[in-house]
Amino acid sequence: MPKFDFDFFVIGAGSGGVRASRIAAGHGARVGIAEEFRVGGTCVIRGCVPKKLLVIGAHFAEDMIDAKRFGWTADNASFDWGVLRDHVLTEVDRLEAAYRTTLTNHRVVLHEGRAVMADRHTIEIDGKAVTADKVLIATGSAPQMINCPGAELAITSNEVFHLNRLPKRIVIAGGGYIANEFAGIFNELGVKVTIVNRSDKLLRGYDRSVVDRLEHISTAKGITFRYNAPFESVKRSQDGELRITFQNGDALETDLLLAAIGRLPASSELGIEALGVKTKERGGIRVDKNNQTAIDNIYAVGDVTDRIQLTPVAIREGHAVADSLFGKEAWVPNHDMVASAVFSHPPIASIGMTESQARIALGDVEVYTSDFRAMKNVMADRNERSLYKLVVDPVSRKVVGAHLIGPDAPEIMQGLAIALTAGLTKEQIDRTVAIHPTMAEELVLMR
Ligand code: FAD
Repeated sequence: MPKFDFDFFVIGAGSGGVRASRIAAGHGARVGIAEEFRVGGTCVIRGCVPKKLLVIGAHFAEDMIDAKRFGWTADNASFDWGVLRDHVLTEVDRLEAAYRTTLTNHRVVLHEGRAVMADRHTIEIDGKAVTADKVLIATGSAPQMINCPGAELAITSNEVFHLNRLPKRIVIAGGGYIANEFAGIFNELGVKVTIVNRSDKLLRGYDRSVVDRLEHISTAKGITFRYNAPFESVKRSQDGELRITFQNGDALETDLLLAAIGRLPASSELGIEALGVKTKERGGIRVDKNNQTAIDNIYAVGDVTDRIQLTPVAIREGHAVADSLFGKEAWVPNHDMVASAVFSHPPIASIGMTESQARIALGDVEVYTSDFRAMKNVMADRNERSLYKLVVDPVSRKVVGAHLIGPDAPEIMQGLAIALTAGLTKEQIDRTVAIHPTMAEELVLMR
């Protein structure tokens, strides 16, 4: 008779949790998983996937204009938000079903409900207790709310995919990737967009040159940016309009306020502090390089650890825990050289150190840039320039950072990321023969 109900119990069926449970079960472990909302987690249900589908859907607005220069007539084109929204939500349902099937096929036992830990081996799901030898916390993160009277009038990314209709105007609070992505989506769909940021920095952590380029292009497309503008209050007028007052006394009327100011680790009310699990300042669970918490049978991965809040990172961390605990070989996920993207219009993609980070870390650096207009934009008479930047360590000759803005930048970056993760030097990249005519060829032509 086994001592515990499960060898491994995972709290949270999102990116990290589903991967960890599936891999552990594949190694022969008896696995249970708890999910309080929908299987698939943030990325599938209300993050990467529906967001990217909206980005694709919104971009047709530009394509339709550009198509005219290529001989097409699309004069009677019209857009129906309800159609796009419903198709996106149907795709989300399909993916959730696929994730559920994956769990079933791997004989992972799904417990639908909110889980809390009663002791280091006991998990209670809506009052029903199960026991497990090892526990993985993969509860993700939740949108942070703006903090002022009337904040409850704002929506977050949790609600944005379900809007009944498009607003005429939207204010987006925040300057991070989610704020800029939704700014691009709504702007393409004809909504008047204002980004309001507490500080004077957009997209902190991204290379300044590509961020400045995005701001320049976004402004030219009609997005308004307001910096150093903390909120004083939000009120709804009798005709339904929202009135936002800023701390400096300025005010702004809008139809919808989207709070996209960041995400906080979902670590509270899990009962873990009482067990001795340690958390960091913002609530992220403290783990070592093996994703082990201060309690040796409790592990944590993904957004709840507040390291790099990205799906592929959560997945790798979950995979590493499952392999290390139940597989033949232990391994540690690498948090260096993680490529990421901002699916703005146009998108940004980035890997490694920014130019300023490299200057601090290495002193002297070599920087190569290519500032060009994509062939399609030239023909479409779209005054939108791409910018590619490579940051090179002059001693090792390795490319330590790459930063792109322009059409398909994330697709291009994925290929480049393989080369940079492998530690290729600038000279090795230069030896690569270009594919002509492409935008990506700029990467091998920078001198
Ligand atoms: P999650 O996937 O969030 O899963 C956590 C799960 O735990 C949830 O399903 C939750 O309901 C459940 N849960 C929480 N508490 C409990 C409990 N007590 N009991 C039971 N269940 C519980 N990342 C990218 O890489 N690329 C992108 O383009 C991208 N776009 C994004 C866009 C938006 C709008 C948002 C919000 C996020 C985006 N992300 C993106 C981030 C990505 O979604 C997260 O990094 C990723 O989902 C984290 O995975 P996770 O396993 O840590 O948590």
